Amino acid sequence: MAFTLPALPYAHEALEPHIDTKTMQIHHGKHHQAYVDNLNKAITGTENENKTIEELVKHAGSISPAVRNNGGGHWNHSFFWESLAPNAAGTPSGALADAITATFGSLDAFKEKFANAGMTRFGSGWTWLIVKDGKLEVSSTPNQDNPLMEIADVKGTPILGCDVWEHAYYLHYQNRRADYLAAFWNIVNWDKVAERFAASK
Ligand code: MN
Repeated sequence: MAFTLPALPYAHEALEPHIDTKTMQIHHGKHHQAYVDNLNKAITGTENENKTIEELVKHAGSISPAVRNNGGGHWNHSFFWESLAPNAAGTPSGALADAITATFGSLDAFKEKFANAGMTRFGSGWTWLIVKDGKLEVSSTPNQDNPLMEIADVKGTPILGCDVWEHAYYLHYQNRRADYLAAFWNIVNWDKVAERFAASK
């Protein structure tokens, strides 16, 4: 079964002004599509052809660089689109909010730590909020790696992630990754993050 590009759960223009329409069109329609196509090319006719994306990502480091980059790319972007929502500008509530406060001291302290992980990721990669051994933790990964991979420095279950590749923000923010990371909080789908947090337990 070949992998396919999942539809965006909102319109390309829905995340304006925080993420612009053209960035969304290219990021989803070109970049994510390319990860899907190249993943399919890498597994077609091999023993990995019928594995789930989760299985491929977990063992990506020992399968091939193509599966690591493109399988990671497909999983990460599918996760990213669902992490966002138009007009979301809210705050977490319930058990997730309690866990964030207990772990990081406050929501603002968490945001600072998450943004700092994104700012200090040299080159391309991702910043994550993960559940590790039942506890929240902030981490980051290079390229299209993610915390589900056995080769990740910090392994865990991602519940929120932000793409800090330049292709995610360059058209609107140019070199200003910090501004993009600050705007990110206006479009975080906290309901989805809370759902993932509950499922991780
Ligand atoms: Mn991307």
